[in-house]
Amino acid sequence: MDTRTHFRACPLCEAICGLEMRVEDGALRAIRGDLADPFSRGHVCPKGNAILDLEADPDRVRRPLRRRGRDFEEIGWDEALAEAGERLAAVQAAHGADALAVYVGNPNVHHFGHIAYLPALLRALRTRNVFSASSVDQWPHQVVARAMYGHQFLLPIPDLDRTQWILVLGANPVASNGSLMTAPGVARRLEDLAARGRLVVVDPRRTETAAIASEHLPIRPGADALFLVALMQELLALGAPRLAHWDGRLRGLDTALEALRAFDTAPLEARSGIPRATVARLARELHAAPSAVVYGRMGLSTQAFGTLCQWLIQLLNLLSGNLDAEGGALPNDAVIPITGPGTSRGQRDRWRSRVRGLPEFAGELPVAALAEEILTTGPGQVRGLLTCAGNPVLSVPGGRALDAAIAGLDSYVAVDIYVNETTRHAHLILPPASPLTQWHYDLIFNAFAVRRVARLNAPLSAQGADERADWQILDGLGAAHARASGREWRAQPDPRRMIAAGLERGGSGLTLADLEAAPHGIDLGPLRPNLRERLETEDGCIDCAPDFILDDLARLAADARATEPAGALRLIGRRHVRSNNSWMHNAPRLVKGKPRHHLHMHADDLAARGIADGARVRMRSAAGAIEVEVRADPDLAPGVACLPHGFGHDRPGTRLSRARAVAGASYNDLADPMALDVPSGNAALNGLAVWIEPAHD
Ligand code: SF4
Repeated sequence: MDTRTHFRACPLCEAICGLEMRVEDGALRAIRGDLADPFSRGHVCPKGNAILDLEADPDRVRRPLRRRGRDFEEIGWDEALAEAGERLAAVQAAHGADALAVYVGNPNVHHFGHIAYLPALLRALRTRNVFSASSVDQWPHQVVARAMYGHQFLLPIPDLDRTQWILVLGANPVASNGSLMTAPGVARRLEDLAARGRLVVVDPRRTETAAIASEHLPIRPGADALFLVALMQELLALGAPRLAHWDGRLRGLDTALEALRAFDTAPLEARSGIPRATVARLARELHAAPSAVVYGRMGLSTQAFGTLCQWLIQLLNLLSGNLDAEGGALPNDAVIPITGPGTSRGQRDRWRSRVRGLPEFAGELPVAALAEEILTTGPGQVRGLLTCAGNPVLSVPGGRALDAAIAGLDSYVAVDIYVNETTRHAHLILPPASPLTQWHYDLIFNAFAVRRVARLNAPLSAQGADERADWQILDGLGAAHARASGREWRAQPDPRRMIAAGLERGGSGLTLADLEAAPHGIDLGPLRPNLRERLETEDGCIDCAPDFILDDLARLAADARATEPAGALRLIGRRHVRSNNSWMHNAPRLVKGKPRHHLHMHADDLAARGIADGARVRMRSAAGAIEVEVRADPDLAPGVACLPHGFGHDRPGTRLSRARAVAGASYNDLADPMALDVPSGNAALNGLAVWIEPAHD
């Protein structure tokens, strides 16, 4: 038997753990953490091992599929790409360029073959109707980074391994494996932090991260912005801000502080459940800590005041002297830069959505508007769709309406490896070859890592002659669309050449050969101050008071005074280490054991509604209703309901045999597409008012 070992980073989440893969007679047989990876040091989570399931999944699409009646037929690649290009071009020829929409799902960011090749295709398609999972996830982070620092990806990252004190809001890195904070083995890193300093978690649920924290503060869902304003007021009361590092480089600080000092935080305790005295103590801890950082993630960015939350976090880190400081929050000066010349800084409001008039950001429209753009008749109506590695029917608010809208499209082309709840409506499905057959460099998550690292990933095995890589599909689609439209298409170089060009542009001195000689990756050391030199605002200053963000304080003030809807609970999401957004539910290793799709409620809330633990309940919101099994959860505060995202696998026509067995219900059948974080346009999914009662047969 021919046995060998291959080293490669895991492509499934932000942690980019190094994996050691055992290959026998050319077939992948076993996976474990790569002990020699200087960053992940052998860490692997259950999803890493599930790569074995993904590679062997009998449900996975291996050849291009073309719709034939209610089913699909396999066709060849040349025919599939040509027909896809013709379909997309025909929609645009008949109804205009914007009649074609594009949706880009979360996995794209993890694959060089997508992230590096999509921009050329999008430019060629010339549509303004581009949507992605970013606007149901992290737009507030990007919008704030662009407004304050001049570039959407100039994101300060917690210096997790050196900080002495961290305040974590709306994030559960132990389950999510870190997010906008690439930190493999994050549980160990947080435990070390708690041992040398303090880890304070603010979350409506006693999450897996809260369980290892020095302190957990249960907060009412949606009250984080008010909490952060109060924290800022208490910090300001402790004396002059520490701003020596920023002399002459701050714009609008007085305006911002005046607005925040004047903000009425009297409703804090009633609204958030957290006493003022506790907030004052946290401010003293933040002020006194030798190094500290405030970090907030998806639980904040997907709520109604996501942008205010992320702006306040930047200001708290700035005013406490921890922005761009060791042990605080610093951008990673990655060896392949995703900021600077030639990158998309993230402009805003260059055009608006046709139906609701929502502003564009970074070339995209809020995905909460996708269904109405398809369903609303008139000039500019969307009639064709291209999706890349996405499942918007489960990932986007108003999922049922979007499901029906996509079913009625004239043309739908999907680049995907599954017939999922969305791609079941496609006219063509183009499945990329395994990522293990491709060269890969993680552009995004090396740039958001808590250390400066670099790792090139070589193919584990050769791509089959009858397979196409992601980049070849996108390049082929661009060529076919151009041919059908009578335009020119410039073929893209292969990934190795693209990666080499990126390294050269970064100017670190590292070459492809250096990375190839280091199969476990290279550790270039801890984060170092660099934000001041990299600011991309017009005047080189941090804009502390962007108008459109400051304006949103009035909406927050009104919300703080509003009364709770009678009988409502507030719904939040729940992440599990064995799940990954709306996919990975077809992997046997990840769905075995007890079901994870249940709704969780506090026992008192169950009793008050006459609902038994384990019963089936009906849950409705202003936007929809679902039925799901419920569990009593002592880790949840009363008044809060908790449901994981990405389930609802019971729809006909999918090829997800394992996922169907753990169908659950979709959070996004409840989420309201009209509920947005106004400054960014990100969907407000978290803190939804819901009413729950026993389900009746
Ligand atoms: S933590 Fe993320 S990168 Fe690491 S093994 Fe799990 S899924 Fe893969």
